Amino acid sequence: MQAATTSPTTRPGQPSLSVVVPAYNEAEVIHEFQRRLSLVMAGIGLPWEVVYVDDGSSDGTAELLAAMQASHPQIAVVALSRNFGKEAALTAGLDHACGSDAVIVIDADLQDPPEVIPDLVAAWREGGIDVAYAQRRSRAGETWLKKATASAFYRLMQRLGGPVRLPPDTGDFRLMSRRAVDALLQLRERHRFMKGLFAWVGFPSRAVLYDRAPRAAGTTKWNYRRLWALSLEGITSFTTLPLKVATWLGLATATGALVYGGWVVAKALLYGDPVPGYPSLMTVVLLLGGVQLITLGVIGEYLGRIFNETKGRPLYVVGRHLPSSPYRSLPAE
Ligand code: UDP
Ligand code: MG
Repeated sequence: MQAATTSPTTRPGQPSLSVVVPAYNEAEVIHEFQRRLSLVMAGIGLPWEVVYVDDGSSDGTAELLAAMQASHPQIAVVALSRNFGKEAALTAGLDHACGSDAVIVIDADLQDPPEVIPDLVAAWREGGIDVAYAQRRSRAGETWLKKATASAFYRLMQRLGGPVRLPPDTGDFRLMSRRAVDALLQLRERHRFMKGLFAWVGFPSRAVLYDRAPRAAGTTKWNYRRLWALSLEGITSFTTLPLKVATWLGLATATGALVYGGWVVAKALLYGDPVPGYPSLMTVVLLLGGVQLITLGVIGEYLGRIFNETKGRPLYVVGRHLPSSPYRSLPAE
């Protein structure tokens, strides 16, 4: 069995805690983030490192991080070869995190306040849990439309997800014990709906409430198109219910068509067919055509994902890796 998650088992030179931070065009906030993070981490009193993943930024974030790494021994930088998206960046960071006891995942834009980290660590050190996730008490600075769509999505996933439960109002901001991270890293699928993967891994977990701040600077990389894609990702990677719905829809329309067809034939036999019946014909053809196209689209969504998975490509490509201090003497990977 692994060592108990609550008693840090730090080996010399190895940090106990890793903080993983995906950063894409965050040059404006990264200094402030690092300042607040190191203040908070110093107060915890465990050896720590922070792994910044530069996700192919175009605003000089990578150069800033490399410069910061030169003067801060706790900083590690993983620079990806291009923009791979937050989910891949997060995975890269988790892959490169050396923390032997726990890993904390946090956004760079200060929407997840680093000041909550001690609460997450405290919850984990109390024992009995592997995951402490930060749950938003409020969503300051977000439009009602964003709030409404987010809440509708969580409700939908709650119904579709089966045994995998997504806690509502929870992002990626969380602390995971080493064994939870190792379990998570075994899931190498390309379509990474992180919230779902976190939930799939299981382990006892606890919510820590906090107030989500508006972005400190810069702009969100999410628009409704990307959020729609993310929701589709969430649904299709975690449930095959839409395929079942498609089957039932097909069965229902087929039954309806059969009954209606029988009635039309019977009517023609009994009373003859004085009118050519163009409107009803058209209605049925269009309805069936529509249902068929929707069903094909649903199958296509799944087929496309199967296609992407079968290619078996790596999730990200590392351009440059600058490890945190104790490892600087070792050859870079
Ligand atoms: N991010 C990333 N790659 C991307 C988009 C975003 O690494 O392609 C990072 C970003 O730098 C931030 C975090 O993911 O640290 C969350 O992004 P954002 O603030 O845009 O999302 P939101 O907070 O609106 O959900
Ligand atoms: Mg943000």
